[in-house]
Amino acid sequence: MEQFIGYGKQWIDDDDIAAVQEVLKSDFLTQGPRIGEFEQALAHYLGARYAVVVSSGTAALHLAVLALSLSKGKQGITTPITFAASSNCLIYNGLKPGFADIDENTYCIDPVEIEKHIAAGTGVLIPVHFAGQPARMREIYEIAQKKGIFIIEDASHALGSRYDNGKNVGSCCYSDMAVFSFHPVKTITTGEGGAVTTNDKQLYERLLLLRNHGITKDPGKLKLPDAGGPWYYEMQELGYNYRITDIQAALGLSQLKKLDEFVRRRREIIAMYNQTLANIPWLTAPYERPGVFSAFHLYVIKIDFKQIDKTRTRVMQELKAKGIGTQVHYIPVHLQPYYRENWGYKPGDFPRAEQYYHQCLSIPLYPKMTDEDVHRVIDAILDLGH
Ligand SMILES: *Cc1c(COP(=O)(O)O)cnc(C)c1O
Repeated sequence: MEQFIGYGKQWIDDDDIAAVQEVLKSDFLTQGPRIGEFEQALAHYLGARYAVVVSSGTAALHLAVLALSLSKGKQGITTPITFAASSNCLIYNGLKPGFADIDENTYCIDPVEIEKHIAAGTGVLIPVHFAGQPARMREIYEIAQKKGIFIIEDASHALGSRYDNGKNVGSCCYSDMAVFSFHPVKTITTGEGGAVTTNDKQLYERLLLLRNHGITKDPGKLKLPDAGGPWYYEMQELGYNYRITDIQAALGLSQLKKLDEFVRRRREIIAMYNQTLANIPWLTAPYERPGVFSAFHLYVIKIDFKQIDKTRTRVMQELKAKGIGTQVHYIPVHLQPYYRENWGYKPGDFPRAEQYYHQCLSIPLYPKMTDEDVHRVIDAILDLGH
């Protein structure tokens, strides 16, 4: 039996293992030197002033929204075509989860749709760089500036991507904060892990505080400086334990060194896919907006299932029988039972997202795929039309 090709997977080398081993043999399993080193390396790579690494991308989103101190009952707006965490983070913070429909070509949130949904209570926009392609940040930034609204980029798919101005996603040139995930299917991994980047010192300091229960020991920041002695620490607000371990930070540092190579190989695979798949009449290959550089977290195709007279279930089964894994990214968040029952959403609310959902399929994409794997996938997809 040929090896199974999943839709995404990490790449771990001996140097990653050695980096983790070194921490395991050291005195610090958590809150040691690797965390700060990883934060500095990440901020430096991205061109942001600050990075705060945390226990997951979801924790990063939760803290980023919390750090803005928006009053309860305000609204945030994200895209329905994302992982649920992009909007759940609003609800964690007592905010209403709002959505704006996607652009039909890029599948990212459409700035024109954002403008339609902005209301007096809108406090934050959370664009998602879907599949690695940067959303139209210049337009989104202008809208937010005009209305005095914050922007948090959910860049979980887009580590290594660049905007059309050539700057890195994560440099926060168009946002208050950007959030990354280091889950194993993402561009680099720490097992579980995430990060927030920002250029704002105040936000940076709040993120550090909130990551650690809202507790500080910094003598310069104490509210009651005379209350204790050398043991003294202060809990100044309600935070969380969203710390990452030094073990994970060591893995992240080691992985970050290989990010450019991972992205190069991802794009090489994309080029191989495009060469054949862009010419199939019943299939739509991914569109890359001129000027942007996508690190391609996913390769999403749209299939006209009527034309090949097969359901998506059948297509997934046929590919699986050939040892090829596929996935659907995503079921529109507003159609999840929780969102329908608690927030009143229903089918038809975001027609472009729903139309996209009926046709999309993510096919395997990860840097460790061999050319042979790629050709196996291409051949299996061509066979679907027969
Ligand atoms: C992966 C992902 C997250 C959450 O990241 P975790 O590290 O799994 O918590 C959030 N948003 C998007 C778009 C993601 O793909």
